Amino acid sequence: MARDVMSVRLHLPQIRVVGVVEDTPGVLVVEVESTLRRVRCPVCGFGCRRVHGRRQRRVRDLEVSGRRTTLVWLRRRFVCDNCFERCVEDHPAFEGAMTRRLAQRLVADAKVMPLRAVARRHGVGWHQINALVLAWSALVAERRRSRKCRVLLVDETSIRKRHRYVTVIVNADTGRTLAMVPHRSAAALSGFFAQQGRKWCKQVKVVVTDGSPAYRAAVAVHLGYARHVLDRFHVIRWFSTGLAAVRRDIQRRQPQGSEPAFDPQVFKARLALLKRADTLTDADRARLDALFDAHPRLKAGWQALQELHGLYLAGDRDEALEALGRFCDPCQTGELPEFHDIVDALIEWSDEFHDWHHAGRPSNGRIEGTNNLLQVLRRTARGFTNPHNCQARGLLIT
Ligand SMILES: [Zn+2]
Repeated sequence: MARDVMSVRLHLPQIRVVGVVEDTPGVLVVEVESTLRRVRCPVCGFGCRRVHGRRQRRVRDLEVSGRRTTLVWLRRRFVCDNCFERCVEDHPAFEGAMTRRLAQRLVADAKVMPLRAVARRHGVGWHQINALVLAWSALVAERRRSRKCRVLLVDETSIRKRHRYVTVIVNADTGRTLAMVPHRSAAALSGFFAQQGRKWCKQVKVVVTDGSPAYRAAVAVHLGYARHVLDRFHVIRWFSTGLAAVRRDIQRRQPQGSEPAFDPQVFKARLALLKRADTLTDADRARLDALFDAHPRLKAGWQALQELHGLYLAGDRDEALEALGRFCDPCQTGELPEFHDIVDALIEWSDEFHDWHHAGRPSNGRIEGTNNLLQVLRRTARGFTNPHNCQARGLLIT
C-alpha cells in the first residue's frame, strides 16, 4: 500500500517535528525539538550553546484532526561556558506540561462552559484548568487596576440568590470590571480601596453607587475627594415602589382569599402606570384617563411619580430643586402616605442625589450589563461555592 505523503505539521513557532512516535485514529504522539540555537544562562546571563544532554518531557497540545496530541519534547541541557553551571532550556511555546496555545484554548473555553466540561473535552484535570484561570485572571486584574479611573461604578450582585453577594467594581472609563469582592459590606469595599492605595483613590473624581449605607460609609472614608452620585436606576425603582403601593391599596376590592380579590382593570394597568408621561402611547393614555376618573388617589400618586421623573429631566440642579418642591407639597397633605418613605430617603441622600447634575449625569447602566453577564456565567458554571473562583472567571468575561 502506498504511504501517505502528508507529514505532521504542528505550526508551533521555533519547534521542529523530529518524528512520529504513535499515530493511531485516537492518539498522536510526536517527538519535537526546539530550533533555537542557544539559551541564556539563568545564573550569569551568558549565551549557552554547548549541549550537555537531552531529556524527554511530555507536553499536551491542541487536538490534531480530533486526536489527543502529546508532544515528546527533547529538552536540551546546556553547559555555560562562562560559569560552568548546567541549565535546562525553556521554550516560549510551552507553559509547564502543556503548550501555550492549549492553555489559551482552555481559558477561552472556561468563559463559556463549566470547567468540568472543559476538562472532559480536552482530557485535562479540573484543578489544572482552574489554576490556569486563576493565574490569567490575576494578570488581567493587575493590568486593569494599574490604570487610572475617573468614574467608578459600584454595585452588588448575588452568586447565590439571597444568600451570597459580591460587590462588583467597574471602571466606567474603560467599562472593565476591576474586582468582585465577597460580601456587600463597608469592610468589603474599604478593603478594595485600601489595596488600591491612596494615590489611586485620589484620581477617582466620581463614584456611582446604589442607596446602600455600607457603600456610602466606605466611599466617605476612602474617596472623600470624589463626588458620590446615587444611581439613577435605583432611585427610579424607589419612586416606583410608592406608586405600586398606592395601586395595590386601590385595586384590592375584597379581603384576601375571596374571588375576585382584585380589580383587574387597575392591575392590568400596572406597567403603563410606571411609564414616564412623555413615553405613553395614545392607547395607554386613554386607559389611564379612564382609571384616573374612577380613582382620584391613583391620579395623585401618578402625578407625584411624574414630578419625581422631572427631577432627572430637569436641565440643572436648580430646576431639579423646583421639581422636588412640587413633589413634596402634595405629600405633606397626608393624601399619599405611601410616598413618605421616599421623601425621607430623598432628604437623607439629597447631596448624592443632586450631584448627578454636576457630575456629568453618570449612571450604573454599564454595571447592570456586567451583572447580567455574571448571572449568565453563574448559570453556565452551575453555581459557585468559592467566591475567588467566581471573581476569576467573572473578570475574564467582563
Ligand atoms: Zn553562566
